[in-house]
Amino acid sequence: RVLIGNLIGEDHVNYVLMYNMLTGIRIAVSRCQAKIKRPLTDDDFSARHKYSFDIVGNELTPSAKYDFKFKDYAPNVFRELREDCFQLDPADYLLSLTAKYILSELGSPGKSGSFFYFSRDYRFIIKTIRHSEHKFLLSILKDYHAHVKSNPHTLLSRFYGLHRVKLPRGRKIHFVIMNNLFPSHKDIHETFDLKGSTVGREYPEEKAANNPRAVLKDLNWINREKMLELGPEKRALLTEQLRRDSELLKTVRVMDYSLLVGIHNVRRGNRDNLRSNTLKVFSPSVPAIRRKNTQIKGGRSPEAIAMRRAMRESDPKRLGAGTLDLPEEDTGDRQQFIFYQDEGGLQATDESNRPADTIYYLGVIDILTPYSGVKKIEHFWKGLSADRHKISPVAPAEYGDRFFSFMKAIMRGGGGGARFKSE
Ligand code: ATP
Ligand code: CA
Ligand code: CA
Repeated sequence: RVLIGNLIGEDHVNYVLMYNMLTGIRIAVSRCQAKIKRPLTDDDFSARHKYSFDIVGNELTPSAKYDFKFKDYAPNVFRELREDCFQLDPADYLLSLTAKYILSELGSPGKSGSFFYFSRDYRFIIKTIRHSEHKFLLSILKDYHAHVKSNPHTLLSRFYGLHRVKLPRGRKIHFVIMNNLFPSHKDIHETFDLKGSTVGREYPEEKAANNPRAVLKDLNWINREKMLELGPEKRALLTEQLRRDSELLKTVRVMDYSLLVGIHNVRRGNRDNLRSNTLKVFSPSVPAIRRKNTQIKGGRSPEAIAMRRAMRESDPKRLGAGTLDLPEEDTGDRQQFIFYQDEGGLQATDESNRPADTIYYLGVIDILTPYSGVKKIEHFWKGLSADRHKISPVAPAEYGDRFFSFMKAIMRGGGGGARFKSE
């Protein structure tokens, strides 16, 4: 579970898959974007658009380097999520996902076998998902959409698109595009993946000592005496949002999700350069002035303008590869969201709500595992050998309550108790 990206060039084993994913997204998203927006209907939730790519091309799809099929699920719903709920600039979105040699691969950080790819500017993550997760997301899309609409500050994973690539020999790869919770411009000094369960939830401390990018778990949090240092204001807001989010997850009967917590220590700053290799690959040797020009804030970079023009002319074939450099500062694109307002995250505060030296990057991730038959069996067997209430795969309601109680318990204002020991 090391957060290091490998750049994907033409010689990379997953280059073809990557190319197909990005080509499909580019065409499908710009097709959808070219249409006039109208209120969603029930049919939008079950809509699927199919594209067939080959070297020749046709009126719907430009010629591509490889033969493959691409399926876009509920495009209008995801468009509304992106634009109205998550306030993404359409041109920025396409630009981030279509630059040449775009992505770096995180490998498979989880046990599930999913692959993670960063967009070149590090803002988006493509996660390959199982067919069951794909079906599950479609089945809860209405609930998810309604929740996000009435909870603009939700901490749940932000899903921007759901797609499938089919390769000539029939292999089908499902994937989602979501937000990267971690910023490109701040080192994350500690990372925790918290479920509110303690059984087996420990990353070996001796290994963590020489791996600053280790993803630590519940027991590490407890043993290190960590707390989310938030004053009354932020504490109340975060508690209420987590309560609502976990209620939704209970309703749709999902399990196994976590609160991902990235901790940036302001005094330590970026001197350790812990950010992923992507950053090291792309940030040096780019003059600062150019970096400023290509910042994606407000989508006014030359590339974004060109992209928008191409989109206006509804000519997806013209949406070619652009280049994009990593922003060195907060792009400011998340400032309207309470929990992402401070440098893309949530700054710690003391009991008088005054800012402290820590920035948290928080979100509820991995929310597509339904309480299926498989989980029930696991529950039964694990239940025989350990305290049934402490193990991870308890029923969704219990899981949600335990998750929420844990998160409430780890929040504290600046005053009293164990202080951060990370300095
Ligand atoms: P498993 O099911 O075994 O837990 P998974 O393949 O479903 O694994 P996730 O739990 O979604 O993977 O994520 C694994 C790790 O990847 C997380 O602990 C976190 O470090 C990183 N990660 C996942 N989603 C994000 C995100 N949106 N932003 C930043 N990092 C993320
Ligand atoms: Ca997980
Ligand atoms: Ca998972």
